[in-house]
Formats: sequence, C-alpha cells, structure tokens
Amino acid sequence: MPTPEMHLGLISAMEQEQTGLLALLQSPRRETCGMREYVTGMLGGTRCTCVLSRWGKVAAAATATMLIERFGVTHILFTGVAGAASRGVAVGDIVIASSLVQHDMDASPFFPRFEIPLLGVAQFAADATLSERLARAAQRFVEQDAPTLLSADERSAFSMREARVHHGIIASGDQFIGSQARLDMLREQLPGLLAVEMEGAAVAQVCHEFGLPFGVVRTISDDANEHAPVDFMRFVERVASRYTLGIVTRFCMPG
Ligand code: SAH
Repeated sequence: MPTPEMHLGLISAMEQEQTGLLALLQSPRRETCGMREYVTGMLGGTRCTCVLSRWGKVAAAATATMLIERFGVTHILFTGVAGAASRGVAVGDIVIASSLVQHDMDASPFFPRFEIPLLGVAQFAADATLSERLARAAQRFVEQDAPTLLSADERSAFSMREARVHHGIIASGDQFIGSQARLDMLREQLPGLLAVEMEGAAVAQVCHEFGLPFGVVRTISDDANEHAPVDFMRFVERVASRYTLGIVTRFCMPG
C-alpha cells in the first residue's frame, strides 16, 4: 500500500503519456521552473508531482533533480515507451526495470565500458519494493483492464498479442535505436537486456546519488529496428498513454 507520507514524482517523456494523469489529479497546483511545469496533487491517497521531462538523459536528469530538491518527492516513477531488445518482448508488452545502464557511456580505457566515471557504478538497481508493487499493478492492469481497453481492430493494427509483463535490464542513451545491427551489438554487450529507451538510466543515476527509491515502467512501442511501427505517435496516443494511466492508477489506488 502506498504510505500516506509518500510523495511520488511521476516523470513522463511525452505529452500524450501524461495527459490522462493530469486529468485525474485532485486539487492540482502548478509551478513552472527550468522550462518545465510541475503539477502537484492527489491521485487516490497518494500525493504526486507530475512533470514532462522531454526526451533524453540530460532532460530526465534535470527533471529528477528538480523533483527531489525543489518539490521534495520521496520516490520517483518514470513511465513511458521503449523499444524491445529481447526476442520474448513484443510491442504492447510492459517492461519493469530491475536495473538500468547508460548504453552510450564509454570512458574506456580509463573506466570499464558503461561504468559512470568516478562513481564506480555501471548498472543502477531499481528499488525492489517499488518495482514489485509496479509489477503487481501492471499484472492486474494487463489481466483486468487491458482486454477491454483496445478494440480487436486496434490490436491487429498494432500487431499486438495479449500483453505480458517483464522484469529486467533497461538500457538508456541519447539515441533512438532503429537499426537491427545497433540493437544486436547492445544485446551482445548487455546480456539480459529487455528494452532500450532514452531517459531511465539518467533518472536512476540521480536517484542513486540522492539515495531515493525509484522505478521505471515502459510500454513497448517498437522493435528498435528498421521495422519499428510505421505510426509511432499513433501507438503512443492510442495504446501507451492508456497503459501508463492504467498502471499508475492501479499503483496509486491498489484496491
Ligand atoms: N520514432 C519516434 C521517436 C520516439 S523516441 C518518432 O519519430 O517520434 C522518443 C521516446 O520514446 C523517448 O522518450 C524514448 O525513451 C522512447 N523510445 C521508444 N522507442 C525507442 C527506441 N527504439 N530507442 C530509443 N528510445 C525509444
């Protein structure tokens, strides 16, 4: 159960992913700083501050830092879309991060590949308790809500099968992965990799440095290769935004 003293920072990278959440926030209070609008309110019994980071690691890190330092959040959840990086992971599935790595970090030969210089960490572990609760929320969403959320036509338009929830490694970098060769290289370098995106591991580093529990949940939007869905934005609007809303709602209101 979310504790009453929890103040959850909810970061999304794209506007479509956040719209539904904002509509549900009770007694919203808005504050703009650093070119971002932070909206604080209640979602069920949980105090939340929602914000749009925009894409990429710097944007995500700046947003997470502001949430912690200025808004005093106690936990951070990042919600968004990602490319599949494992054969068992398909478009429409949900991936919850067990740990995150910055795949474009390479200060070799001074430091091992992927290790953050002078921090001594390559993979940041997501908070186990938060991730377990996220996994339960995602599983309930997939079983009870998702089947009625999309029409059969929508499912077939996006070639979606029944969604599965996965738990594993997510890699982030300032790069949209849309090449099978690039993806294969990452999979070889990072055994157990499930998904690729552009923000999660940056938020993970900030939370590590501030000692804050965090979780990352991603709906798979594409295969991170040349066949990535033709209509990415439509997928985000029709599918991913509703998945994010459903999972976060179940997370904050577990009843
Ligand atoms: N193809 C899209 C680009 C989406 S990338 C377009 O043309 O608009 C933007 C967001 O999706 C980022 O927040 C990133 O985290 C996530 N994302 C989804 N699929 C990704 C992929 N294959 N590689 C990297 N990031 C991806």
